Amino acid sequence: MTTYKEALEDMLIRKKMVQAQCESCWTEEAEMAIRALEKQIPLKPYLTKHQIRCSGCKAMLRSVESGNKLPMYCSRCGQRIEQLKEESY
Ligand SMILES: [Zn+2]
Repeated sequence: MTTYKEALEDMLIRKKMVQAQCESCWTEEAEMAIRALEKQIPLKPYLTKHQIRCSGCKAMLRSVESGNKLPMYCSRCGQRIEQLKEESY
């Protein structure tokens, strides 16, 4: 089964190949597909003093104090969030 990461790597190789032939042949749609794939690959959130934030768009996911689980996806940018063990906070 192809993972999102493999699909993304494949797309990036294709992009290079296409652009080597013809710069303008890499369409905006193809670029959008790359960005959509990137959002499916879990990204580690980053931590400020009181908040856990999306590394993609810096939106707050939740406060450090609340014991709630992190959302699977950022509600602002749609980035998939890597679920970390509570101990690592
Ligand atoms: Zn985000």
